[in-house]
Amino acid sequence: MSDSVCVVGSVAFDTIETPDGRADDVLGGASTYFSVAASFFAPVNLVGIVGTDFPDEERRFLSQCGINLEGLVEAEGRTFRWSGRYHENMNVRDTLDTQLNVFEHFAPELPESYRSSELVFLGNIQPALQSNVLSQLEKPKCVGADTMNYWIEQSPDELRRLISRVDLLSINDSEVFQLSGESNIVRAARKILDMGPRHLIVKRGEYGALYFSSGEIFAVPAFPLEDVVDPTGAGDSFAGGVFGSLAETGTVDSRSLRRAIVYGSVVASFTVEHFGLNRLKALTREEIEERFGQFMSLTDFHS
Ligand code: AMP
Repeated sequence: MSDSVCVVGSVAFDTIETPDGRADDVLGGASTYFSVAASFFAPVNLVGIVGTDFPDEERRFLSQCGINLEGLVEAEGRTFRWSGRYHENMNVRDTLDTQLNVFEHFAPELPESYRSSELVFLGNIQPALQSNVLSQLEKPKCVGADTMNYWIEQSPDELRRLISRVDLLSINDSEVFQLSGESNIVRAARKILDMGPRHLIVKRGEYGALYFSSGEIFAVPAFPLEDVVDPTGAGDSFAGGVFGSLAETGTVDSRSLRRAIVYGSVVASFTVEHFGLNRLKALTREEIEERFGQFMSLTDFHS
C-alpha cells in the first residue's frame, strides 16, 4: 500500500481573469490543488479551514477523490477568497483581492489519524504555523514546504527556522533569488541547501523546474502546450504530483525524486488546460501515464 501524504494550506474560492475569459468564485486554494493532484497517486490527508458557506457538493467532490477531510475544519464566517488577473503574457499575474476571512484565525490542529503520515507538505502559510504543524507529526519520511515573497519579507527569522527543519523546499525562481540574496540560480540554490534542506525544487513556470541537491542537478521542461487557459494552481498541483508520486513509490531517493518531478510537471500541465480545477476533475491516471510517456520522448537523447 502507498504511503500517505498530509498537506496543510489554503482552501479558497478564486475569481480569475485571463485575456480570454474569467471564472467567478470557483474552488481553489493551494492545498486543494495539491490534494487533488496528489490523490491520483496516494491517499491524502488535508488540513485546512473553510467557512459555513463551503458547499457540501465541494466536500463530496474532494472526498470522492479519496481525500481525507477529517482535518478540514469549518468555522463561523466566509471561506478564504482570492482574485487574480493574468496579463497577455500568462507568466505575469496581478493579485486583485485577498480576503482572508476564516483563514485569518487558522490554527492547524492535526487529527490523531494524520500524525503518522509519511509524506508532508507545508503549503504557503505563516512560517510559524508551518513549524507548528511539523511539530505535531510523528516521524515523516519527507517534509516539504512552500513559501512566498510576503513571508520572506515579513517573517525572515521564523522562515529560516522552518527551512532548517524541512527536507525539501519547493519555491519559485524569484523566491529563490530573494531568499538567498543571489542573482545566479546555481549559487542561490547552493546557499539555500546550506540553510538545511537536502532537496530544492525551483519552479520556473512555463520554463519547467530545476532540482538541486548536494552534487546533483536535474532539469525538466514544462510540457509544451498550444493553449494555456488558466495557470492558477500550477505550482500547487506540481507539488501535489511530486509528493503523491513519492508516496506511491514509498522511497525518497534521487531516482524516485526525478520521476516524481516529471509526474508533478505532467499534472501541472493538465491543470492549466482549463479554468480552476475543471481539467483535474475530468483527468484519469491513464491520461497521466500517456503524457508521462510523451515527456520521456520529449527529453530523450543519446550521447
Ligand atoms: P498558484 O497559482 O500555484 O500560485 O496557486 C494559486 C492558489 O493559491 C489560488 O487557488 C489561491 O486561492 C491561493 N492563494 C493565493 N494567495 C494566497 C495566500 N496569500 N495564502 C494562501 N493561499 C493563497
